Amino acid sequence: MPHRQETIAVRGGYKPEEHNGSITVPIYQTNAYQFRDIEHARNLFDLKEFGHIYTRITNPTTAVLEERLCLLEGGVHAVVTSSGHFAEFAAISVIAGAGDEIVSSSRLYGGSVNLFTYFLGNLGVKVNIVDQYDLAAVENAINEKTKALFIETISNPSCDIADLEAWSAIAKKHRLPLIVDSTQATPLLCRPKDFGADIVIHSLTKYIGGHANSMGGVVIDLGTFDWAGSGRFPSFTEPNPSYHGIVFAEAFGAAAFGVKVRVEALRDAGGCLSPQNSFYILQGIETLHLRIKAHSENALALALFLRAHEKVEWVNYPALPDSPNKARADKYLKGYGSGVLSFGVKGGLDAAVTVIEALKIANHVANFADVRTLVTHPASTSHRQLTSEGRKAAGSPDELIRVSVGIEHIEDIKEDFAQALAQI
Ligand SMILES: *Cc1c(COP(=O)(O)O)cnc(C)c1O
Repeated sequence: MPHRQETIAVRGGYKPEEHNGSITVPIYQTNAYQFRDIEHARNLFDLKEFGHIYTRITNPTTAVLEERLCLLEGGVHAVVTSSGHFAEFAAISVIAGAGDEIVSSSRLYGGSVNLFTYFLGNLGVKVNIVDQYDLAAVENAINEKTKALFIETISNPSCDIADLEAWSAIAKKHRLPLIVDSTQATPLLCRPKDFGADIVIHSLTKYIGGHANSMGGVVIDLGTFDWAGSGRFPSFTEPNPSYHGIVFAEAFGAAAFGVKVRVEALRDAGGCLSPQNSFYILQGIETLHLRIKAHSENALALALFLRAHEKVEWVNYPALPDSPNKARADKYLKGYGSGVLSFGVKGGLDAAVTVIEALKIANHVANFADVRTLVTHPASTSHRQLTSEGRKAAGSPDELIRVSVGIEHIEDIKEDFAQALAQI
């Protein structure tokens, strides 16, 4: 019987008896692996047999992490990468080249906007960015050059929840794969496969690792997309010259995309994770199911506290009962909201700066999804180059403070915000 996610988080993908009985996953701190004989080496290089060749492509420690993430998402092949950004790049790079297009939601992690607009743009891949709730606009942006749809389950930083089923319906109609960046939701709050996604991406740097000690990313092939049947992907159905004419869709079937990410993006562009970091992230996953609920519960409690505070103008948190996202939080996130909220203080820029500087527990950091409570002030950091009007238009007005709510005691967190707000 397949195990439940909590059991997979603790044990998935690992058998001690295959590793000298070691109860924790050993760190295989090696670059290369000895071949049995010439025949073995030939088979590995021809992809006729799977085995370890070189740590840029596979590593036994990282393989446990890949298998665990694959089981958590219900996938068929997972490829761990050096960061979340490399996971996004790797996934897109094996399906889209110069002249091709992607359709993406506009509610994206800021770094993804740069990656999509400038980096991929310079390589000749055009990303059409659309309002994710305007489904007609999503469909209108699709043409014969389109290779995938891309959306975040919970958008960073605006915390909008995607209507995954609606996007999946459009993707299926046009025989396109739906790629979901589910970093902020984690597999514990949402399994995008249950709502029609084909490929899931995570930044492991965030909740999955969870302790702010290791970067990482993953691309998970859910095995649901028919690459040969789509007609849009000749690189899956024609002989591949870099692998002696192998045809990916024939040789690897449902896992063709995942294998392609590994043997093309990882083999050719690098971007592998170090085994040491795989170990740290595996250790993080063992408590993911406990942490993500604690983050969500603390965030909801802090959101309610802030909303009742006289110096607070507004609070944005998707699981608040009257949030425009609440119905989608119930449908896609089991009613949870994950750990990030934002709020606006009365008094604009100066008041926000006062609060950030007065907080004693919450750290002021350019990161989120740590066990510690973290705050950011976009008007002073990521959105600093914009005018005050421009920030408002970008959904990040001067008074906005983003909080990644940690798993400290909620009363200590509330007291910290209370004393900081009192300084205004
Ligand atoms: C952080 C983040 C990324 C990028 O991940 P890194 O590990 O920092 O490279 C991508 N998508 C989302 C939603 C993120 O939050």
